[in-house]
Amino acid sequence: MSSSAGFEPRPGTTRPRLTVVSGPSGVGKSSVVSALRALHPDLYFSVSVTTRPPRPGEVDGQHYRFIDKAEFDRLAGAGELLEHAEYAGNHYGTPRAAVEAALDAGRPAVLEIELQGARQVRAAMPGAQLVMLVPPSWETLVTRLVGRGTEDEALIAKRLAVAKEELAAESEFDKVLVNSDVQVAASELLTWVLADSFEQGRS
Ligand code: 5GP
Repeated sequence: MSSSAGFEPRPGTTRPRLTVVSGPSGVGKSSVVSALRALHPDLYFSVSVTTRPPRPGEVDGQHYRFIDKAEFDRLAGAGELLEHAEYAGNHYGTPRAAVEAALDAGRPAVLEIELQGARQVRAAMPGAQLVMLVPPSWETLVTRLVGRGTEDEALIAKRLAVAKEELAAESEFDKVLVNSDVQVAASELLTWVLADSFEQGRS
């Protein structure tokens, strides 16, 4: 199979690999994934659905598809989400069809999701590779989360508690990436997304 995006599968393989980027809130996942997109725009970047209200500057259909709980439940119930999770009081999920279509078209796909979702992808797609982005130190994470100024104190405390749990799951991941510098982390991530990019055929 040859793809319009120019990715060629290696002999004996079919679809490119799905890479899951996970890690605690405030670690810089979005910045690293944006930098990855700038390095390689032909990769497929999943747009999640969420019941969280948009933050200032977030665009519907670009950062997330913002939906209400009824629509979220409908999608989950219909099996249209590859994975989904509740995180800090809101619901998030990855639309399945778009990811499958990208992989079928030969484009390596990247999901930026939290830990419960990463575990579901691991179970559903054993060929996926899981990358955990970690901060250089716990203090850096606290400073980033507080400095972002997008959450109030109670929400920050909630996200920090979840962050502790997420960091404790490091050993479940294939690779751990320290985000000391966004560009450096994105370059490293790109090599992993492309390396051994095509998983074995399933038939
Ligand atoms: P935020 O509200 O800060 O945008 O996202 C909160 C957390 O949800 C982040 O860790 C983010 O990576 C994660 N997230 C975003 N989209 C999805 C998704 O589709 N599924 C799951 N499981 N987590 C998601």
